[in-house]
Amino acid sequence: MPGFIIDLDGTLYAGTNPIAEAAPFIHYLQDHDYPYMFVTNNSSRRPEEVAHHLFQVTGIQANSEDILTSAQAAAKYINENILGRKVFMIGENGLAHALQNAGLHLVAGPEDKPEVVVQGIDRSFTYAKLAAACRCLWEGAVFIATNPDLQLPSEYGLTPGAGSLTAAIQAASQVKPVIIGKPSAIIMRYAIEHLGRKAEDIWVVGDNLATDIGGGVAANCKTAWIRSGVGAHLAADELIQATGINPEVTCSDLYQLSCIITARYGHV
Ligand SMILES: [Mg+2]
Repeated sequence: MPGFIIDLDGTLYAGTNPIAEAAPFIHYLQDHDYPYMFVTNNSSRRPEEVAHHLFQVTGIQANSEDILTSAQAAAKYINENILGRKVFMIGENGLAHALQNAGLHLVAGPEDKPEVVVQGIDRSFTYAKLAAACRCLWEGAVFIATNPDLQLPSEYGLTPGAGSLTAAIQAASQVKPVIIGKPSAIIMRYAIEHLGRKAEDIWVVGDNLATDIGGGVAANCKTAWIRSGVGAHLAADELIQATGINPEVTCSDLYQLSCIITARYGHV
């Protein structure tokens, strides 16, 4: 029986707009007892807030345990690798919550000698934060970046993503980060572990070829590229050629994916 790792923004909703086939697709998975997990690179919201937003926009009910954010994965990675307990964070509420929830202590700056710098999206990013992060890194802290997305879609068009802030810190400090979010193997491994299935029995479903499908291919999962969100207006073959990332199936929408799953696994 297959399991599913499903992207949120651009796949089930587009910001505050639902994607029409999203709720029927999740009901399809539920009807067939296919296990699934929602995996998002967005570190700004707590899992409960992600679940609330998902329900508000699409009507899909989710438990917070069904959701894995890059913030949670970053916290887990720090603990798993025993990097330290004192963290200098550049980020928003969801990241702060995930780190504190994992027993980590947020400190004010380099004078507190943090062992780790964690950076996610921070819409109050400043020169002072950039300088503080650099000092922490120069004094030996490990640099963790929640996700590599350089740009994010918004109602005003594209806006800078967490990866753009990472680039600034990396340029200034000359320290390379450990990247946690998709397409990193780190978040993929945590999601695969949660589903408790072999990677080859898991479908990674998403709209972003570079992050969702790239992460799925690297993790040896099956991949379904849904042409609903990022780059939906661009030609599929050109994007595949430009990225070198080849999805197992390309679907115009999630209904088409459910037909492919039914054909492949043949259930009643
Ligand atoms: Mg997406």
